Amino acid sequence: MNDPSVAAAVVTTPPILRLRRGLVVEHAPGALRVTSMATREVIEYAVDDHVVDLLACLDGTLDRGGVHRRLQEAGHLVSLGVVDAVLAVLRGDGLLATGPDAAGADPRRTAQLRFLDELASLHPAPGRDAASLQASLVASRVVVLGVGGAGSTVVAALARAGVGEIVVVDADVVEVSNLDRQPLFDTDDVGSHKVVAAAARVATVDPAVRVVPVPLHVRGPADLDPLLDGVDLVVSCADQPSVAAASGWVADAAWPRGLPHIVGGAYGSALGVPGFTVVPGSTACWWCARSAATGPDDDPSWQAALVTPRGGTISAVTGLVGNMTAWEALRVLLGLPLGFSDRLLELDLMTMQWHETGVSRRRSCPCAGGASAPVPPPA
Ligand SMILES: [Zn+2]
Repeated sequence: MNDPSVAAAVVTTPPILRLRRGLVVEHAPGALRVTSMATREVIEYAVDDHVVDLLACLDGTLDRGGVHRRLQEAGHLVSLGVVDAVLAVLRGDGLLATGPDAAGADPRRTAQLRFLDELASLHPAPGRDAASLQASLVASRVVVLGVGGAGSTVVAALARAGVGEIVVVDADVVEVSNLDRQPLFDTDDVGSHKVVAAAARVATVDPAVRVVPVPLHVRGPADLDPLLDGVDLVVSCADQPSVAAASGWVADAAWPRGLPHIVGGAYGSALGVPGFTVVPGSTACWWCARSAATGPDDDPSWQAALVTPRGGTISAVTGLVGNMTAWEALRVLLGLPLGFSDRLLELDLMTMQWHETGVSRRRSCPCAGGASAPVPPPA
């Protein structure tokens, strides 16, 4: 940490210096170890004693001159250049927070703002800090198709995160049989339209979040199209007439608009499928995912003969799948790395192991630069 050549790199040092959140700093004679609780990354340094005291100064109250003065007061007669060199190393290793601490800006979301603060430091980008990430959520509009077990979990999670507007699409009314797994509804809602009850519930959580109830029975992409103006993301949690059909309608409506969508999520007794994320122009499309799931070598001599009655589910499972989908939706809105694109994931709910199927882009498909519209795989 004594290389003076890096001192010139700190011209753009932010006025107030702060270590990233979630770091554990330990020291031994002549050594310093920093562990990230977020990533488990461990960095070890050989250091002089003043570096330990310098790190203690990086609490968000001092600029580099203030840090230098405090070290001098503590008896460390080091130059400002030495301080700058240490800061340059810390910045290069991603250990400095990248923006001001906004945790106190909204008493409703102090934990979330601390979380976003850490995300901004872990995934730095120009202008990205906790406040800008939260502002991007507030400015977002999301359509959620289907408010069953997973869908109502998604709506609840997006609302608590502060997503500005959520368009909720579902024609069903709340039934008493929904209450074992759909967290937006309670006994008093039985008989009400789900979308109306969802809006009322969200209003009690955060009145600033606007839920637009659309009690519509969607029968194809044309029904969705009028809902998509100004929308940032569509999440399909519908399973009627089937997960695949509803996902295809969403893909057909969203793809031509270049609109990100998350489709294909489902759950069975022992499997959780968090869905597949499509960002037109960036990821594989839903139809390529379907092709990967179906496989090119399915033997057509096998015809469906019988399907026994559908299995059930339980709140812990629908909540797990819904919250994974919601977390992916938030990553789309925040511009963070995605987890469910370009591969199909299934979680074995007994072993908690993931099964992964890679999705390659079919050469003729527009997601690989091919034809003008995605083409469903052969039936
Ligand atoms: Zn494709």
